[in-house]
Amino acid sequence: MFNNKIALRNCKEYDFNKIYSHIRDIFKICDGPEVQGKRVLLKPNILSDSPPEKCVTTHPVVIEALIRFLQDNGATAVYIGDSPAIHIGRFRPAKSGIMEVCKKTGTEWISFTTKSSELKLNRGSIKVTSCINDVDLIISVPKLKNHELVYFTGAIKNTLGLVPGFNKTKQHALYQDRNSFSQFLVDLSEAVTPDFFIMDGIMGMEGAGPAQGSPYSTGVLIGSSNPLALDIIASSVAGYDPAVIPTNRIALARGKWLKGIDDIIYDGPALSSVIKKDFRRIPITGFANISVRFLSNRIIMLRKLERRPVFLKNKCTGCGECVKICPENAIDFHPADKKHIVLTDRKCIRCYCCSEVCRFNAIKVRIKPFGV
Ligand code: SF4
Ligand code: SF4
Repeated sequence: MFNNKIALRNCKEYDFNKIYSHIRDIFKICDGPEVQGKRVLLKPNILSDSPPEKCVTTHPVVIEALIRFLQDNGATAVYIGDSPAIHIGRFRPAKSGIMEVCKKTGTEWISFTTKSSELKLNRGSIKVTSCINDVDLIISVPKLKNHELVYFTGAIKNTLGLVPGFNKTKQHALYQDRNSFSQFLVDLSEAVTPDFFIMDGIMGMEGAGPAQGSPYSTGVLIGSSNPLALDIIASSVAGYDPAVIPTNRIALARGKWLKGIDDIIYDGPALSSVIKKDFRRIPITGFANISVRFLSNRIIMLRKLERRPVFLKNKCTGCGECVKICPENAIDFHPADKKHIVLTDRKCIRCYCCSEVCRFNAIKVRIKPFGV
């Protein structure tokens, strides 16, 4: 049985000293890994390089406090890395404040796109950064956010960042519906499980996450070496029934990390006091659970009810990032003006990668009205 201890601390602001002492506390309570003499890789959530107040990325003060804790406890080297899908080559997270933390703490930023190796999964294999072979410990530092496709992004989803660049997007083409994509996420997380997780839930993201939602003061810092236990507690804080989050449901059924929710050993304030009932959650539709590849017209009719990307002409700058990321070539510039984006609806698999990468809030995810 995996270590099933989890600790949650109320934490309402990005105050270095408070966060440092919570991290120390969390490591102790959850039997965090020994760091003395170890080389440690931190994997924050840097979906795209955005200012910390937008809550797209793990906050730099959490990263800084964690680095200082590791250094004070004898880690010989700390590295930070991530690989946002649209940034390749010499990506550096400057706007998010993480490069500044690297400078201040003498920590090296690692690009995940330079060296990769093949990792065997339940189904097939995938490229992951080779950095994971050069360190002794991996600590994942996810951000508490909504996610249009899998409803919630936490510890299990954050492992996807170990896959370099566009290799992530290709998985959407392979696993086209919510359920099979979630199976893949659990496969990947089981194949390479970080040694510990510290979730930045001090400010989370409600609404159209993981990129275009709004900051929400969820007020918690959570840690565990068990990604499933962490996601169950964190999705509960966001007001979800944890059993509706597909990655939770799939991982629970497999029983590798937990046999049941009751096995979680929780340390923290009463859960009822930290659950945010007014957090704007992603509507649970269930339609995308049905694979469109193998089923007939009836299912295609059901898909018309699934939320789809809508492109707002007045906000679109024509940067073309959504066109590059779309795994199904379902979007392109309008042939007449070569400026506005048009969607070929029959090709769209509702993966929402386009809305994740749009930096101009020009893509909304909405129910498509009948007849349109
Ligand atoms: S919709 Fe967004 S990502 Fe796509 S071209 Fe317009 S601004 Fe760029
Ligand atoms: S248009 Fe957007 S939601 Fe549809 S397949 Fe392409 S990236 Fe995914």
